[in-house]
Amino acid sequence: MLEKKLYAYKKKEQIPRDTPAKYKDKFPFLKEVDSFALCNVQLQLQKAFKDHFRNRKQFKIPKFKKKRDKQSYTTNNVHNSIRVDFEKVLLYLPKLKEGVEIELHRRFDGKIKSVTVSRTNDGKYFASILVKTENPRNKVVEPKSKAFGMDLGLEHFVTVTNDFGNYKVEHPRYLRRGEERLKRLQKSFSKKQKGSKNSEKARLSLDRQHAYITNARNDFLHKLSKAIIDENQVVVVEDINVKGLLKTRLAKSIADSGWSKFLNYLKYKAEWYGRTFIQVDRFFPSSKLCHRCGYKNEDLALHDRTWCCPSCGETHDRDVNASINLYFVGIGRSERGTVEQALVDDRSPHGIPKKPSCNEVGISTTKG
Ligand SMILES: [Zn+2]
Repeated sequence: MLEKKLYAYKKKEQIPRDTPAKYKDKFPFLKEVDSFALCNVQLQLQKAFKDHFRNRKQFKIPKFKKKRDKQSYTTNNVHNSIRVDFEKVLLYLPKLKEGVEIELHRRFDGKIKSVTVSRTNDGKYFASILVKTENPRNKVVEPKSKAFGMDLGLEHFVTVTNDFGNYKVEHPRYLRRGEERLKRLQKSFSKKQKGSKNSEKARLSLDRQHAYITNARNDFLHKLSKAIIDENQVVVVEDINVKGLLKTRLAKSIADSGWSKFLNYLKYKAEWYGRTFIQVDRFFPSSKLCHRCGYKNEDLALHDRTWCCPSCGETHDRDVNASINLYFVGIGRSERGTVEQALVDDRSPHGIPKKPSCNEVGISTTKG
């Protein structure tokens, strides 16, 4: 179908609209698969062309898949043709007489609409099942903290402040180690002769490692964003210009740390669970303001990790100070006094250290 469509496209003729049934005589193997699988491909193909004619810049003309790309098919549930036996842990699919053994991630309720079976290029098979349910979301929990300020960093993943104090979230060690391994695999792959058996093997381990890192990072970002949204009513972050920054030399660490994905997760989870998500103006000087007296340090450079306020004498850890200022935005001016008091009281194990003097060398950072 794609070939026919592309042919007509090149000749600037009307794009033909035909159905899979037409091809069944010429290609008898098409009779072996269930017709919904074929029908879904036809619909996807039609949509791809429609999208392309609607917006040629965003949607390129469809092309043939490479054999080693991810492969998948989608089929619909009709008269219980798709079902899961939770006891025996089997998945029943159309045209297959016996259930397929699966590794079940979790039980679910609701009516199965469709299933997409895919084979990733590292050779694993997945079935993702679309289910219609009444309550698709997790329960909303009562937030423990009114506000939450978050500074995105390079050294640490994020530095945060909420009603209970502040702490730093590190990049998970397994991600760091995974990335080191990725680098090694990349090197080994590039050294192999193209097209050779060894090169193919190296590519497979490289693909596997890529998949591992993507999954591990998404898992980390999902869990962290869910915890933040559960615990806090108002979440405040800087409006960092991720796209702009990606063009600079900070690009690698930003892309690696998955900031834009993380902010996106926070945004939609906030919407799901009735929280407020605030991105402050990009020009709000969250790092330069002394959170204690409001003095603005115009001379603060990007590499200054700590600084001393000449107005009140407080020594600041750059990231902690920024997260506190963002927290204040969340808590609102009217409540600022009481909250500031609570923080300086050092009531929690993560509290800000008591006012240090400028003579102290550096500042001890609190870790959560
Ligand atoms: Zn100050």
